[in-house]
Amino acid sequence: MRIGVLAAQGAFIEHITVLRKLGAEALPVRLPRELCGLDGLILPGGESTTISKLMRDYNLVSEIKNLAENGNPIFGTCAGMILLANEIPGSTLQPLGLMKLRVKRNAFGRQRESFETDLSIPVLGEKPFHAVFIRAPLIEQSNGNVEVLARLDDGTIVAARQGKLLVSAFHPELTDDPRFHQYFLDIVAGNS
Ligand code: GLN
Repeated sequence: MRIGVLAAQGAFIEHITVLRKLGAEALPVRLPRELCGLDGLILPGGESTTISKLMRDYNLVSEIKNLAENGNPIFGTCAGMILLANEIPGSTLQPLGLMKLRVKRNAFGRQRESFETDLSIPVLGEKPFHAVFIRAPLIEQSNGNVEVLARLDDGTIVAARQGKLLVSAFHPELTDDPRFHQYFLDIVAGNS
């Protein structure tokens, strides 16, 4: 399986490392031609405004949209989730708009800007998933065909799936638990 990781800015090396540990071929993507022949793509965390600008500068926007419209799985973590959304109130950022999500950037006020917590994510099994949130966004609203995968104790949605598109507000690439990436590879393989 060939998985591209958008390598414009942010935590892309960590994703490549996890994917390779799981036996997938993982390649950094900066140019449109590097999207050819991929089975799936990861949009990593980082600074969504910067990643969005670089995606436009590198002429990747329409190519990534094509990839999704052709049924290829895409997984967005943190800033990557912001990029996949279709509504970001109060922001001039133009997201890809591939998922029916309203996302709030930097949603966790100053005191909780960064935090870690154990989440129940039933699609990953019974064992809680240790989730690292760094200046994270949250999903304020999702449309009917979006499946909620995880919530914080207060009900805030922090992971979701729409068809073959997957998002998490947290950083599964920063822990030793590869189950979220394995779940994405299962989607890519058509097993989930
Ligand atoms: N706060 C960042 C943004 O709005 C996202 C943070 C992250 O990806 N860790 O783009």
